[in-house]
This record gives sequence, structure tokens and C-alpha cells, in this order.
Amino acid sequence: MDVSGYLKRLDKIKFSEETCPSCNSAVLSANPAGAFCHFCEMYVASDAEHKMDSSAATAFTAAHEATIKGDLVSAIGAIAPLEASADPLVLYGVGNVYMVLSDYTYHGVNYALGGFMYSNADKRNDEYNKNSSNSMHLLSKAKEMMYASIFTINKAAKGDDWLYLYTKFISEMKLKRLAHVHLLLNELNKQRQTPVNPYSNLAYTIRAGGKNAEKLLRPLLDIGEINAYYYLAKYLADRNDLSGTQKVLIKISSRTRMPMADDLMLKAKEISAATAL
Ligand SMILES: [Zn+2]
Repeated sequence: MDVSGYLKRLDKIKFSEETCPSCNSAVLSANPAGAFCHFCEMYVASDAEHKMDSSAATAFTAAHEATIKGDLVSAIGAIAPLEASADPLVLYGVGNVYMVLSDYTYHGVNYALGGFMYSNADKRNDEYNKNSSNSMHLLSKAKEMMYASIFTINKAAKGDDWLYLYTKFISEMKLKRLAHVHLLLNELNKQRQTPVNPYSNLAYTIRAGGKNAEKLLRPLLDIGEINAYYYLAKYLADRNDLSGTQKVLIKISSRTRMPMADDLMLKAKEISAATAL
């Protein structure tokens, strides 16, 4: 795998900017057909028929801005009304916002301070009934929204549409239900040549630790799919190449904001620190 060649290449790619129909994030696309959202991994077609309504778009923008500022209470306040949405793509996007807020809260806890310290009190996950911004509560909210997205698609019998099939697939992936993921991947692969198949196979293979990862990575790196760089980093991390992992993740962060890459960077740093002891 020519990792440094792919890293140099990422500097030169010219991207167009699309908008995610699930979470309203800006998505960099090098492929004229479409790309995958860096925040939630939804497929963003350049000629998307599926558009988010403007009130949902405003709510997501407010939630993303508040998250970047570390203002979790405002982020939750902005996103909460969308829990009642009838759009399965929006429900999936809401789930992802909660998931990122949960990680943010979790990593923001300073265990050295002890639970009685005031600055930790609002992050303690054993008091979830008292505080809406704690990690476990947010994670269960995230899962609830993913299930709601799957349920809405099943109820409307939209499972045959490849974008809805992909939405179920990626929701199950975030729920870490790999048996369901595998079944849905088979369904997608039966429908050959949908724009999401190469990415779905890559995401599943890397997460499930399967073979052929390099063969699946190359075509997506070749067309400049930024999320494929995340899977390259994950692939290197699984092979204990922590310096390669960090190089790829730093390069990603020079181009875009990607919470799942931040999360992997934290893990790589923790492992590096532990092995240096
Ligand atoms: Zn998105």
C-alpha cells in the first residue's frame, strides 16, 4: 500500500462542495456522482433528489456550531425537535449528532478530578436522569434515533430503494450489529452497481476485520473519496502501524472535520502512550 503516495495525492485533489441530506454538513466530493458525508457517512449524490427541509437544515447547522464551541446544552436544544421527524435520513443524522456529543462528553470527563468536583458533575454518566448532557444518556438517544430511522424505512416498505437500504446498513453499522450489517450488505450487493456498494463493502470489511481490505481501499482512494482515507487509517491501526495511522489522520484533519477520525486519533494516541511506558 503506497500510503505516502496517497497522502501526497490528497493535497492535489480539487473538491466540489455538497450538502449532506442527513445532517446538513458540508461534504467534499472529488467524484462527479457523489461522495460520503465526513460527519455521518451518508451518501451524498451530486444530483440528490432527497433534500432536507429548511427548518431541519437550520437545526443541524445550529447543533454543529454549538458542538464546535463545546456548548452541549445548546446543541441538544437545537437537535431535540428533530427527533419527531418522519424522514429516516434526518433521524439517522440526529442519531449521529447525539453519538458525537456522547463521545465529546465522555472524553471531556477529567477522571483525575473525581466525581465530586463541580466541573465533572454535569458529565457524570451515573446521573443521567438529572442531566441531559451526559455520555450514556446521549448514547442511548443516538441508538434510539438509529432504530427509529430503520423502523420508519421498514414501515414505509422503502427497503428496496438502495439509498434506504444503505441508510439501514450504515445505521446497523453504528449500532455495531454486524450480523444485521452483513445481511443488508448482501441485499445491497444483489442490487449491483449502486453508487454505495464499493464503500459499503469497504466499511464492512475493515470493521469486521475481513480480507481483501487493500483491494477495496484502492479504487476509492483513487477517486479521492476522503472517507476512504479514514478506513486506510483504521486499516493501518489494525496492523499496529500507529505512526502511519496518525499521518493519515493528520492529513484528513487538514482538509475537513471528521469526528470518527478524531476518535481514532485519540485511540492511537492512547495506545502510543501506553506502549511507551
Ligand atoms: Zn451527514
